[in-house]
Amino acid sequence: MENIKHLYNLQKIDSQIDTLKSIFVESEDKLSDRSELIDAKINIKTLKSELTASEVNLRLNQNKIDDIEQRIAGLEKRLYNGELRNNREIELTQNEQAVLVKQKEEFEDLSLQLMGDIEIKDSNHKDLEGKMSDLLKDRVKLEASLKSQIEDLKKQITMLEQSRIKALQAISKHILVIYESLRKSKAGIAVAVVKGGICDACRIALSSSNSQRVAEANELPRCGSCQRILYAI
Ligand SMILES: [Zn+2]
Repeated sequence: MENIKHLYNLQKIDSQIDTLKSIFVESEDKLSDRSELIDAKINIKTLKSELTASEVNLRLNQNKIDDIEQRIAGLEKRLYNGELRNNREIELTQNEQAVLVKQKEEFEDLSLQLMGDIEIKDSNHKDLEGKMSDLLKDRVKLEASLKSQIEDLKKQITMLEQSRIKALQAISKHILVIYESLRKSKAGIAVAVVKGGICDACRIALSSSNSQRVAEANELPRCGSCQRILYAI
């Protein structure tokens, strides 16, 4: 029975080491995962290039409007300076002017649309820049806290590993082989506590004859169902 108590002690140490190591891996993963920042940077860059494209389009559109206005003014001049010789020429010039006025209106509508679009994109861009600045501040805090957590975990794991070495001294070699093999095949839990006649690891009630048989065969009481070493507190 003394052996099982020592094994249970070893199991508690190993389970703590397993838990701390898994937190350690999670913390290292979080520390190296900068995807949120990278995604935010990409979004800002995409929006900025869309904004620039809309601004270029607006400038080009304004140039077209300026050009049409000049042409309309030119026709206006011809209509009123008496250079047109007959009604036919006047009618043609007026028609040409009407077409240009219509074109100008279409380009002006497009300019209004582009200006609205630029306003929205500019506001979204500013929002994203603000969010990015918050993200960067949060990231600095998170990294500092993760680094200190990782250092802390390393110390705790080292201390537990020292306790483990001490715990091993009280356990005979052939029992340790069984323990290690069970740890590998049973998700890290080789020693299960018995509570109210139930194996705490697999939650199955122990049939006394079955458990007894396993116990005699291995010199260790084992759960007849999951084969783990049983420890009655
Ligand atoms: Zn069991």
